[in-house]
Amino acid sequence: MGLSWNRVDSFNANRTSPYRPCPVCGSIQSRTITVFNGFQFFTDSAEEPKRADVCQCLCLDCFALFMNPGYSSYGFKTLFAEAGCSYGSMSGRADEQRDWLDGRGLLGEGKRVLDVGCYDGGFLSKLPENVLKTGVDIDGPAILRGRERHARTGIEFIHGAFETFDIDKTPDLITVFHVLEHLPGPVEVLKKLRAISHAGTKALIEVPILENGATKDINGFFSVQHMTHFSKASLGNALKRAGWRVVEAYECAGYNGFRVLAMPGENPPSPPFANPPLIPPLIKGGEGGLVKGAGDIPLLHAYLSEWHRALFEAGKRIERTLDTKRWVVWGGGMHTEFLYHTTSFFHAAPEREYMIVDGDRLKQGRSWRGIRIYGPSALSKVDWSVASLLISSYGSQNEIAEAAISMNVPQDRITTLYDDVRVY
Ligand SMILES: [Zn+2]
Repeated sequence: MGLSWNRVDSFNANRTSPYRPCPVCGSIQSRTITVFNGFQFFTDSAEEPKRADVCQCLCLDCFALFMNPGYSSYGFKTLFAEAGCSYGSMSGRADEQRDWLDGRGLLGEGKRVLDVGCYDGGFLSKLPENVLKTGVDIDGPAILRGRERHARTGIEFIHGAFETFDIDKTPDLITVFHVLEHLPGPVEVLKKLRAISHAGTKALIEVPILENGATKDINGFFSVQHMTHFSKASLGNALKRAGWRVVEAYECAGYNGFRVLAMPGENPPSPPFANPPLIPPLIKGGEGGLVKGAGDIPLLHAYLSEWHRALFEAGKRIERTLDTKRWVVWGGGMHTEFLYHTTSFFHAAPEREYMIVDGDRLKQGRSWRGIRIYGPSALSKVDWSVASLLISSYGSQNEIAEAAISMNVPQDRITTLYDDVRVY
């Protein structure tokens, strides 16, 4: 009798997936890289579920990194109700983005431009008058605002899901700035965009990438607002699966933005992923000509070592706070949730008491993990002989410190977590 040689994981049953498949290749084989148990999305609520075990996973077939589970539409609503911003609204960069496109002759007379994730039309309104502008977004209120604000400029706004929206004109240029990383099905959206394109349509996709993911803050690159954590390789694979061919790639200066210009490729998109069935089919990453980003694994470890270094540095500062029994935490957002999960600050001394201040009115009057959130004016009532202030923010740390000093918080009562702050 001959010997049987088999590939690993070639038994095609005996498993189910409670989580979602890889958003890039559809495989259900993944490994959890980081997990936060009971991660809370902003303020306490007695009515709405706001905690979940948030995992960041590595696809074992194509090496894409992604969040598991993904957001439901209900979860998205909860997230964005308090996140205080919508994606696609990076208004400060619109001028540079327009000039980049203009420099490549993509904004000529009569060109049809479609901005995907247009929010209230901020980017489109910066484009030259002689191009035809259309924007699509799932954010209904932003679309209504855009229609009002830009009523006279001829921008057409479409309210719809990115996978299924209706458009009657074929765009010459499609822009997708920092949207793809937020979507549950980036490949499905890229397929839709290819389906509405003509042979000469150019698509500009910009996402943050793992290659530039090293940050000095405790939040790190694996934002819980991002459902796929792209690298150059996994973005390339997503585009390829959707039938796009990359014609230019560019790394933005000064912030983590990887910009790719793509055109419809010769190969049609690969078939859509099935919803994860009970006995899922084996999809191997090599299928469909995907490039396995084997370099993404060392890249991941390089990134994780940077992140752990940041956690180590912050942790050393936290260690020095243990004697003070009352703490005001300035910042009631995601950074404070990361502080909870990655440092000893809230765990080392159970008898310690806290209050939170935050400039965001949506948070004031509410609580986070049972700690009351006030506006910054509450600082004037604090007795600083028995309390200290911890600034729980990276990007705004220095401004907050200045504001605290101007509100008569003694300088020696202020603890910061970071030496130098790079805003990006
Ligand atoms: Zn994959």
